[in-house]
Amino acid sequence: MSASSTDPIIAIATAPGRGGIGVIRVSGPDLSAWAEALCGQALRVRHAHYLPFRNQQGETLDEGLALFFPGPHSYTGEDVLELQGHGGPAVLRRVLDDCLARGAAIGLRLAQPGEFTQRAFLNERLDLAQAEAVADLIEASSTAAARSAMASLSGAFSAEIDALSERIVQLRMLVEATLDFPEEEIDFLEKYQAAKRLDAVTATLDGVLRTARQGLVLREGLHVVLAGQPNVGKSSLLNALAGEDVAIVTPIAGTTRDRVIQQIHIEGIPLHIVDTAGLRETEDTVERIGIERSWAEIARAQVILHLQDARHPDDPLDAEIVRRLPAGTPVLRVLNKVDLLEVAAPAPHGSSMVKKAGPTSASQAPSPDLGLEFGPAADEILRISARTGVGLDTLRARLLRIAGWTPGAESPWLARERHVRALEDARAHLALAREHAAHSDQVLDLFAEELRLAHESLCEITGQFTSDDLLGVIFSSFCIGK
Ligand code: GDP
Repeated sequence: MSASSTDPIIAIATAPGRGGIGVIRVSGPDLSAWAEALCGQALRVRHAHYLPFRNQQGETLDEGLALFFPGPHSYTGEDVLELQGHGGPAVLRRVLDDCLARGAAIGLRLAQPGEFTQRAFLNERLDLAQAEAVADLIEASSTAAARSAMASLSGAFSAEIDALSERIVQLRMLVEATLDFPEEEIDFLEKYQAAKRLDAVTATLDGVLRTARQGLVLREGLHVVLAGQPNVGKSSLLNALAGEDVAIVTPIAGTTRDRVIQQIHIEGIPLHIVDTAGLRETEDTVERIGIERSWAEIARAQVILHLQDARHPDDPLDAEIVRRLPAGTPVLRVLNKVDLLEVAAPAPHGSSMVKKAGPTSASQAPSPDLGLEFGPAADEILRISARTGVGLDTLRARLLRIAGWTPGAESPWLARERHVRALEDARAHLALAREHAAHSDQVLDLFAEELRLAHESLCEITGQFTSDDLLGVIFSSFCIGK
């Protein structure tokens, strides 16, 4: 951030638009005299004062509550004034403009996105992982994500990282103490059971890493691309998974000309599903552009759901699509419209078994629950009906598994990509340290160095070591007023 990190700052903290109340927040190192002049009365700390918000000419702009939180016991760690008025854009704007005009003398300026929370971090009210959790809590798109973000915000994730760091530091201190007495080096590893201690720390770190990966899935979700020929039911499947109409469904081939991205949740995991233009040869220019975009989406997908018509599982055009799919991206082959297949004699308990039509039925008999089927090359085939909903639960479960989510697993805290990367770095340094410990001759300094690097990686998570660039990236994605 280019602007000074001690200027007094102000922002409308509530969301744009109309609401019951609207909050304006001001933070700065020494605001008490200014706040009292603004409010026209003395403000008892942390007390709600009901008063008119008057401008310099004495006109009442709004009325509401003023609260003054002196630093360091405030959100930012500085003096904070909160004005809670009516939540309309025009009225809030008037109060804000008046505050700015009257704050010119003290250098008051508009806050940048995330600047309040950045100050909280700089003033050590929060560590970096907690500060990120503030944004994650606001952005959480499911109750599971909100619950985990709140746990991170209250420090559950940071506590795990700090405990790990502490154990690594202790081990490092032992090593470094020994380095000062070279004659003891040879015995060190043995005497302090360094390898055993290191293994124990590594095992704990592995556990944290596993949980962090789940937390990352919960935060980021999975990018799924629906691919297939026109009319196989891609839009219908998207609608069935989403539970609401997001794409136009018509029986005319080639209606989905552009991509539609829909976010749905399965067990709280966000799935970003891209519906693509049906893949086929076409003379229509607009449709062709749509199809080119489809291939571009397919190239970016984390998983491709290749949808086919269950009545034509061996369609050569599908073989052609399969041939063009990028290697290395998992592909789920899904046969849709099983409801149109010849229906077998009513199955017990009303389960909807189907008998597949066509010559391949003998080799590809559906599993009783219309679930997974593994062909010769571990080629997994799911059978569904977007119309009746049959097989959709299995499909959802399969998508979760690909996302890396263990069904029923709790993610005690949310994690970001950079957290997982830092944990992986720390893990790699511990592994190197372990190698040095295995060859106990004269490598204590290397052992110590790897411990130092592992510790540093962990500290990046909570923000003891951070660059301004990283802070800029993290806080600029916040909303204004937070
Ligand atoms: P898209 O072009 O692949 O997106 O296909 P649509 O979702 O537009 O579906 C094409 C047609 O197939 C529509 O008339 C749908 O109602 C129909 N359809 C889609 N899924 C099913 C299904 O599972 N069973 C049956 N019977 N019809 C379906």
